[in-house]
Order: sequence, then C-alpha cells, then structure tokens
Amino acid sequence: MNLKKFKRYPLTFGVTPIEYLPRLSKELQGNLEIYAKRDDCNSGLAFGGNKLRKLEYIIPDAIESGADTLVSIGGVQSNHTRMVAATAAKIGMKCRLVQEKWVPHFDGVYDRVGNILLTRLMGADSRLVDDGFDIGIRKSYEDAIQAVKDEGGKPYGIPAGASVHKYGGLGYVGFAEEVREQEKELGFKFDYIIVCVVTGSTQAGMIVGFAADNRANRVIGIDASATYEKTRLQVKQIVSNTAKLVELGREVSDDEIIINPDYAYPSYGVPSEETNYAIRLAAKTEGMITDPVYEGKSMQGLIDLAKKNFFSEGSKILYAHLGGAPALNGYSYYYKDG
Ligand SMILES: *Cc1c(COP(=O)(O)O)cnc(C)c1O
Repeated sequence: MNLKKFKRYPLTFGVTPIEYLPRLSKELQGNLEIYAKRDDCNSGLAFGGNKLRKLEYIIPDAIESGADTLVSIGGVQSNHTRMVAATAAKIGMKCRLVQEKWVPHFDGVYDRVGNILLTRLMGADSRLVDDGFDIGIRKSYEDAIQAVKDEGGKPYGIPAGASVHKYGGLGYVGFAEEVREQEKELGFKFDYIIVCVVTGSTQAGMIVGFAADNRANRVIGIDASATYEKTRLQVKQIVSNTAKLVELGREVSDDEIIINPDYAYPSYGVPSEETNYAIRLAAKTEGMITDPVYEGKSMQGLIDLAKKNFFSEGSKILYAHLGGAPALNGYSYYYKDG
C-alpha cells in the first residue's frame, strides 16, 4: 500500500491521541475496554474534525488547479462546510457554500448558531436553500460552481462530506496507518473500530487502510444517514476507488464492509431518546462531548451493541470520535435540563 506518493497539505496538528475511557467502559457490559481516538481535537482550525483529514489530500489538487474559490455543500448545521470555510480562510481562498435544509428540526436559532455561525464568521459566502437531504451530487452544488465561474472566479468543487472527490478516501487510510503505529506503542491491537457513517469516505478510507492487515471487517460503521442503501453503495464505490489509488493490491469484498443501519432513526439530524441517553452518558462519565447528528448515534450504537453482547468478552474497542460538537448549539431545547 502506498499513501506517501500523494501530496498532503497539513491542516491538522498531526497524530491524534488515543484516550482510554475507564468510566464509560465500566458502564457497559462484557468487561469491554473502550478507547477514543480524538479526531475531534485534531486541529486549531475552527474546532477541527474528520473533514480536515480528507481535505489535507484534496487541497494540494485545489491549489494546483489555480482555483481561487472553494465551493461546497452541506446541511444548515454542516460540520463539513465549516471545515471548508476554515480551510479556505487558512490558505487564502474564497469560499462559496450551499447549505440545504437536510434536517426537519426547528430550534429557533438553528440557522444562526454553532457551525453556521462559525462558517459566516470565517467569511464564507453561505447561501441557504430549501432542498432536502441527499448524500450525492446536487444541482444546487453544480449551480454554485457555475455561479462562481459566471462571476469571473475560478471554483474548485468539493462534494458533500468531501466524499465522492477522487481523493476523499485517502485521509482515513492515513488514520488506519496511524492506529497501527499507536498499537505498537500500546502493545495491543484493537478488536473493533466504531465509526459513524453518512457520506462514506471516512469509513471507506478506514476499510481500505485496515484491509492492509486483513481486519476491514472490524470497522463497524454506524449509519446516521437513514438512507442506508445509498450510503452503503457510496462506501463501496469509495473503497474500490481508494484501494486502487493506494495500490492495496486486491479487491475489497462486500462482506468486508460492515454498516449497521439500526441507530439512524428517526431521521438524519434528529436524535432519538436513545441517542440523547448516549450523549449524556459520554458527557457525564468522561466529559466527552458528542453531537445529536453523528457521534451521538455512533455512541448509541456502541452502547447498544455492548448490551447485546455483539463484542466478545474483554474486547478492546476504538471509538473514532470525528468531531461535530458545534452542532449541539442548534439543539439547545433538547438539553435545557442536561
Ligand atoms: C461528516 C461527519 C461524519 C460522517 O463522515 P462521512 O465521511 O460523511 O461518512 C461523522 N461525524 C462527524 C462529526 C462528521 O462531521
């Protein structure tokens, strides 16, 4: 496998810490040892998160293209568009964003706080549109690229979640390589990796990365899209493309792609009672903040799978914390009493 041949523009602090979570572990069944890899604390750029690992491999291409404007798309409380806005500010480009109504959620300040507040603060031209949730390439996105051209700018398009970009999967191949190095220092290997999945390139990159030592099927994706079939198909395509790019040397088979659809209800961006329980548990036992859109759902999955004895007794589990806490501000009513 060869990741080194790709250019990487540093946007993160480097290797992210792996933290043992003893009080959360004690709450779960089966003598499990739960660890978190803190990609939520990976950068000084606007609170960081998983999209920066992906953007590190995309930005060299953007710079080489001669672009002056990064164009991207997400929901109103998108972490991804916040990260694109921060990256544009950092590298001195303009930023044009389409933010769609992906979430049926009506908190009074939803479109003014959290991610979108930060995005505006960093100078991005963020336009709200009425379209609903979809992880694919949207007309509104293509229109935004065209609009930048019409205005005389040079756009560089980054699709939703930086996922279907040709280099979208590389960042999380790097995550797997990093974990392998950290495992040497820790003196053990993780039995499972838990990761939230929506647009797919985070898990897809991990699958390719961990396929190199034949444990892709230990990466348990917890779907938060509530459009499981689409997400699975997108993960599969990104796995296949990324495996070729990094010269994995073999095809990744369908049964190496594990995605659990059971925790995405009631819909993308809306937490269930069980999601909120998971968010509160991680916060109260470890001071670790997860969000109602993504990480709260993967935390919910981890807790429920432990309860169902999905993991064998004594397993060491790595929870990939991908960021997302700023969105909590748009959900204040749920947590007004804690
Ligand atoms: C984008 C995001 C995810 C999902 O990652 P994908 O690569 O889109 O599947 C999970 N958690 C957080 C905090 C995110 O911002």
